[in-house]
Amino acid sequence: MPDFLAAHALLPEGWAREVLISCGEDGLITAVTPGARAPGARRLAGHVLPGLVDLHSHAFQRAMAGGAERRSPAGRDSFWTWRETMYRFALGMTPEDAEAVAAQLYAELLSRGFTQICEFHYLHHDRDGAPYANRAEMALRHMEAARRAGVGVTMLPSLYRHGGIFGLPPLEGQRRFLNDLDGFMAILDAVRAACAAQPLAAWGVAPHSLRAVTPAMLEALAALDAPIHIHAAEQRREVEECRAATGLRPVEWLLRHAPLDGRWCLIHATHMTEEEARGLAASGAVAGLCPSTEASLGDGIFPLPVFRAAGGRLGFGTDSHVGICPAAEIRQLETSQRLALELRSVATDEANPHPARALLEAALRGGAQAAGVAMGALAPGLRCDLVELDETHPTLIGREGDGLLDAWAFGPQDRMVRSVAVAGRMVVEAGRHVREREIAEGFARAMRRLGA
Ligand SMILES: [Zn+2]
Repeated sequence: MPDFLAAHALLPEGWAREVLISCGEDGLITAVTPGARAPGARRLAGHVLPGLVDLHSHAFQRAMAGGAERRSPAGRDSFWTWRETMYRFALGMTPEDAEAVAAQLYAELLSRGFTQICEFHYLHHDRDGAPYANRAEMALRHMEAARRAGVGVTMLPSLYRHGGIFGLPPLEGQRRFLNDLDGFMAILDAVRAACAAQPLAAWGVAPHSLRAVTPAMLEALAALDAPIHIHAAEQRREVEECRAATGLRPVEWLLRHAPLDGRWCLIHATHMTEEEARGLAASGAVAGLCPSTEASLGDGIFPLPVFRAAGGRLGFGTDSHVGICPAAEIRQLETSQRLALELRSVATDEANPHPARALLEAALRGGAQAAGVAMGALAPGLRCDLVELDETHPTLIGREGDGLLDAWAFGPQDRMVRSVAVAGRMVVEAGRHVREREIAEGFARAMRRLGA
């Protein structure tokens, strides 16, 4: 593996210049040396950040991003009417389509700075709802897409059994998602075996939501020693249904009945009382925020100030992929707070006065925790994932350090990444994914077939 010499690099102790980042054959950082001279190293002239985790992806939804905006005949469009469209779309996808769409998405995410994707995977079965001959076919297709794109993946097979809180029958449109616990465990076993042969792959589990599993199923999954992700409190209706069925709100229920700890990632956690937000923060679990998707779906606004003040951990996901860039997620989170509170620089405090740096560092820590991968900082022993921002981009010219990060997140945004390395290997050069054309051709074929 080559060594890298970064003109500027964001280290755990802050920005440093002329930083030599040495990488071992295993793709891990062996040494980080500021103020170095290294004529033989690969020169990175821009600002270098650690690679980011996209902690929440449903890759197939990339194929419908921007395609579900039109008013429905009945009007009153919402998350729930969008979900109907999404179900119809999901029902048409073959394994080949799913792999082609995921490869396109993963190449796009890489070229914006995401180097590990948590794939929350529930599109398991064939179009009629019957399992494929290999029950894990669809999960393995996503892992193959990640391998081809050169991105890390944390595959999170999702257990989806019911159609409403604690035991309602599933809907017809959910038929490709459904498993009992044994069927789910068979998929998980195949995923674990595949991870053993794919160095950049990890695994975890994803009970879909309190709507889709029973408390006993949740307990069985929580007993595994792995990251555990669950959708929670995205929509007010879901909060009301949970309260009607259990007397508790979703996050309140999880705090009371699930062993929440650092292995857990609650996706969205949008609708929390202050007490829930403080409880979630104290649990050590990560709040998996997907600001672009939450805005797109009209979910609501995350209670950031109380959660941050309580030391809560967070990371970013791109979820439905209406946005695919970490800077856009940082911007949307901060900007939604500004609109709600009529304030600016909400994510900051005295010690961290730049919102982009404050949220980037939170996401680096929270993302690595949620993915279950040793990454998220430029430090020995962690995976050598590097994202070089292009200092000649019009938005970044003349800026440096934290000011450059603010411009990256809050200025005009388009392709500000020059190069990306994953485990020491370059996968984005001159702003382009190294297999961009081949992957894009496969995606175009799938999109034509899907008639999107
Ligand atoms: Zn989701």
